[in-house]
Amino acid sequence: MSKPFFKILRNATVYAPENLGQKDILIAGEKIAAVGENLPSLPDYNCEEIDLTGCSLMPGFIDGHVHLIGGGGEGGYATRTPEIQLSQITTSGVTTVCGLMGTDGVTRHDESLLAKVRGLEDEGITAWMYSGSYELPTPTITGGVRRDIIIIDKVIGAGEVALSDHRSAQPTCQAYRELAAEARVGGMLSGKAGVINMHVGDGKDCLKYLYEITENGEIPKTQFLPTHINRNPWLFEDGIKWAKDGGIMDITSGIGGPDEEKAVKPSTAAKRALDAGVPAANITMSSDGNGSMPIFDAEGNTIGVGVASEITMFTELRDMIRDEGIDPSVAIGFVTSNVARVLKLSTKGHVEAGFDADFVVVDGDFKLNQVWARGQEMVKDGAPIVFGTFEHHR
Ligand code: ZN
Repeated sequence: MSKPFFKILRNATVYAPENLGQKDILIAGEKIAAVGENLPSLPDYNCEEIDLTGCSLMPGFIDGHVHLIGGGGEGGYATRTPEIQLSQITTSGVTTVCGLMGTDGVTRHDESLLAKVRGLEDEGITAWMYSGSYELPTPTITGGVRRDIIIIDKVIGAGEVALSDHRSAQPTCQAYRELAAEARVGGMLSGKAGVINMHVGDGKDCLKYLYEITENGEIPKTQFLPTHINRNPWLFEDGIKWAKDGGIMDITSGIGGPDEEKAVKPSTAAKRALDAGVPAANITMSSDGNGSMPIFDAEGNTIGVGVASEITMFTELRDMIRDEGIDPSVAIGFVTSNVARVLKLSTKGHVEAGFDADFVVVDGDFKLNQVWARGQEMVKDGAPIVFGTFEHHR
């Protein structure tokens, strides 16, 4: 028998991300067809029914900052991280990714990233990309950021461009301003976000240039998505000010581990931002996954390099809800609906009829139980059941 086109997920507590209470969800192909109570069975069709009593269901996570084809390389050629594999993404609860390049815009290419994006779509999730890398002028596919966004369906913006970082190209404020204009008009003409994903480093200038551009000119604050905002206390304070002034702050779930003493733990950063008066709508979270991550010994010496995981999207969401006491629908919004709004992903981030059937299902202890992407169960009982082409498994 062919795979069922219709599926009904029954009796989960649904966070859409707002709490809808206990609901049933009808999936038709890759889409949510209905959300309601006691939805009728479809005996005339090949329809699979799954009981999720005792579980909570939320939109699949949208990770807006992932180094899909690898990142790093800052410790030499041997430290270039490998490409990410499908199940590394899905087992983190992530069903939509936005890929980008970082420090290395020479030996990695936007064309390779585009191919990876298309490959991940073929493997069952949803993927987009930013055009460019840390440097300015930034590498592109067609010769310009504006052209890339308009002509290439999968390109939604520019980045990650480095700001206030010793690894940036040390551009003038005007160069950032011109890039923002390129991305903005590209986004307008293609109906996309056209945002600039702005990697912010440890430099003392923090978001100074973004203030200069947006307060002395026509580019709105929302054209920029400054990220790694929790990497140190001084940037975090500037990020709170930025987000209270109408900008978006993107917290990186992958920084703040035990080796990163000056970083603010992501879940704590979210709580502190809310307490400081940042509107919840102005907070997003992304993983920075699949970039390089130095490994230290007990004395703090670098002894190797690892690869950052996207699992922090899941663990930090759990910590926001359980440890920080953030309302679940608010915290879930940071990794779903808020990201969809900022990146203009119109079929993502909500459990609602007409949206893509992307779900994360957790049990009563907030353990990852199932992950669904475009109507297909990718993770079952916490383990992947769908694998990428080159993943070895039994
Ligand atoms: Zn970065």
